[in-house]
Amino acid sequence: MLDNFNARLYCRNTGEHFPLDASLWQSPEGHLLDLAFTPAPLNLAGLAARPYNLWRYAEVLPLPENSERVSLGEQITPLVAIELQGKSCQIKVDYQFASGSYKDRGAALLMSFVKHLGIKKVVQDSSGNAGAAIAAYAAAAQIACDIFVPASTSKAKLAQIQMYGANLKLIEGAREASAQAAQIAAQATFYASHVWQPLFLHGTKTFAYELCEQLGWQAPDVIVLPAGNGTLLLGAFIGFQELYTMGITRHLPKIIGVQAANCAPLWAAFHQKDTPDFTPTLAEGIAIAQPARAEQMLEAIAQTGGSLLKVSEDDILATWQMLGKKGWFVEPTSAAVIAGLRQYLAQNGTEEKLICSVLSGQGLKASQTAAKLF
Ligand SMILES: *Cc1c(COP(=O)(O)O)cnc(C)c1O
Repeated sequence: MLDNFNARLYCRNTGEHFPLDASLWQSPEGHLLDLAFTPAPLNLAGLAARPYNLWRYAEVLPLPENSERVSLGEQITPLVAIELQGKSCQIKVDYQFASGSYKDRGAALLMSFVKHLGIKKVVQDSSGNAGAAIAAYAAAAQIACDIFVPASTSKAKLAQIQMYGANLKLIEGAREASAQAAQIAAQATFYASHVWQPLFLHGTKTFAYELCEQLGWQAPDVIVLPAGNGTLLLGAFIGFQELYTMGITRHLPKIIGVQAANCAPLWAAFHQKDTPDFTPTLAEGIAIAQPARAEQMLEAIAQTGGSLLKVSEDDILATWQMLGKKGWFVEPTSAAVIAGLRQYLAQNGTEEKLICSVLSGQGLKASQTAAKLF
């Protein structure tokens, strides 16, 4: 029988461990927490008989054996070939989740655990898609939820969160003010943060398992990913590391993180450049001025021999329109990632065999912005 419940919360700064059911989101000293977890070996031969959804990797998901899964039908997302700069790239269509972005991977796992603990209410803060994903899975689990968002968030995203029945808390000021408000509320209520809760990353790591399985249990040579708070980048890194440690794949892919030039603190840190002033960007999903897990993201990228790229507003817009004309209607944030992929191909040539990336968010979320183009 599976007994994969050896997961503990772990503080990298002090080496302390805490039980997973302690409902902590940070250490008592205020440090980030990770998960200390050794997954049971993945039974590759047994996979063929399992449903084609992200729960098929049960051995590696840190959920107690008897816990109920909170699910909105997380099918394995398609891997499609898209030709860019004359090179065929393999792209995961991760906007095909119930709430319209890959954030459902993390929300499904985190909210399943919250349900297992018998928690009745959560709080969260987000500038959009993470709030929508947590609100959707809270609704599926019949758990109450308060989502703190900047008052400037687009109406479409606010409506989506409200349709799921979440209580919307509009906070004036920058994105950080919403996080502060949620963290005050989190003194009394479970903080279902996509940034702070390491379980979220163990949901998004299914991206790497799916991709490697779809490639015949190979890791790509290069993977180009968004770099905002790193919830996909760090989750994918965990997944690629686990697959490599289990001997299923032979190498780690080079991770290339993409930021908008208008908000590129990680790019600046990686390349030892000054951080320019932040200005608004079309790629609102990756416009994170102070990512809490910045150090971890920089380490992960360096460990794989990867790098960080920044893309201009012109490139984001041109790539957004180019993708539409190929039949892919995505969010501008997703277009920024593909703009980064095009830049990578232009700068590095196309010799590396397997180059992969992601379409992270559904275009309908940005239909108002799209309408302004016509
Ligand atoms: C959240 C999000 C991103 C960026 O992810 P981070 O976790 O902040 O790095 C990219 N695209 C879409 C559509 C998103 O919702």
